[in-house]
Amino acid sequence: MASVIFDKATRWFAGMERPAVCELDLAIADGEFMVLVGPSGCGKSTSLRMLAGLEEVDSGTIRIGNRDVTHLPPKDRDIAMVFQNYALYPHMTTADNMGFALKIARMPRPRIRDRVQEAAAILDLHDYLDRKPKSLSGGQRQRVAMGRAIVREPQVFLMDEPLSNLDAKLRVQTRTQIAVLQRRLGTTTVYVTHDQTEAMTMGDRLAVLKDGALQQVGTPKEVFARPANTFVAGFIGSPAMNLFQLPLTADGVRLGGLDLPLPRVMLEAAGAEGATELMLGVRPERFEVHSPHDLETPALDLVIDAVEDTGAVAYLHTTAKIGRQLVPVVVRLPGRPTQGKGDQLRVSVRPGAVHCFSVGTGLRLG
Ligand code: ATP
Repeated sequence: MASVIFDKATRWFAGMERPAVCELDLAIADGEFMVLVGPSGCGKSTSLRMLAGLEEVDSGTIRIGNRDVTHLPPKDRDIAMVFQNYALYPHMTTADNMGFALKIARMPRPRIRDRVQEAAAILDLHDYLDRKPKSLSGGQRQRVAMGRAIVREPQVFLMDEPLSNLDAKLRVQTRTQIAVLQRRLGTTTVYVTHDQTEAMTMGDRLAVLKDGALQQVGTPKEVFARPANTFVAGFIGSPAMNLFQLPLTADGVRLGGLDLPLPRVMLEAAGAEGATELMLGVRPERFEVHSPHDLETPALDLVIDAVEDTGAVAYLHTTAKIGRQLVPVVVRLPGRPTQGKGDQLRVSVRPGAVHCFSVGTGLRLG
């Protein structure tokens, strides 16, 4: 096992107007499960491929443990990668696929057999060791790809969207299995996904990337509770956080009929920028719904455009009139909704439940 350190690692492809990965600084602890997450094209695969040695590093360095691996070939890095398409050899059995890298490394056959048996036991693949990939289900193939990485007992596992070929139900099961397995093996793991639910549920920490630049690193709890900027606020959490651009009042902001006094630190941070407006963030689950007949309690008035009823929770897609603008607002309610399309909704939000960001930089205030 080993730590992984990206130190200003940069990759700039010819013809691109900015680097695919720009000065990435990221320290991954020994045994940690780190998820790289972000939208398509943000540079997460390129970061992983630089660590694997499959992509050149134009500037900066990458270390695994106490070794500078920046310019080492992949085979000398002591890593094992699980690819999105599994990259299994079609003509080989499960056992041969799993043991192939060890055979190439000239490990004695009995030791290969032992390691394959051990991995097969961990991954519940015993009954499939003599089968070829075409006679395996998608989930079984995925486990063979995992097994091939495990038998090598590498210092670091690298995984690039390893669940994207599985159906939704199997994806949920397998993400739990991978997280449990990683904790059991204790092997440092770097896992790439565009799926924020995978990022939130699997990793010890996540690193959020956008346009080749690192936006925030933290535990799922930290990133959810204190997103560093409006991009992370919108990307982590489902449905996305509602964002409202609002003028500053003497002690906060006004959201429809709601006066929201804001903590001093936030107001001072906005004041330091000379701002007259800020971005207010409210997660869909942080609204409180009031009776439509209760006209006393100050509220934000919404009109429901659509209701998504998932059984356990409902998502109300609504519109608010804020100033002269019509703004879409999503509200999440527990249980079955009693409201329907066209209904009015009166909601409020506690000042402590809001997030504030700079309109100019998008950065978190306070
Ligand atoms: P996805 O989820 O779609 O795989 P990603 O976040 O993994 O996206 P990368 O594959 O790392 O993103 O790509 C980052 C940027 O670098 C993209 O703009 C992509 O088009 C570009 N890129 C990646 N590989 C190459 C290459 N070999 N040559 C030129 N540009 C490339």
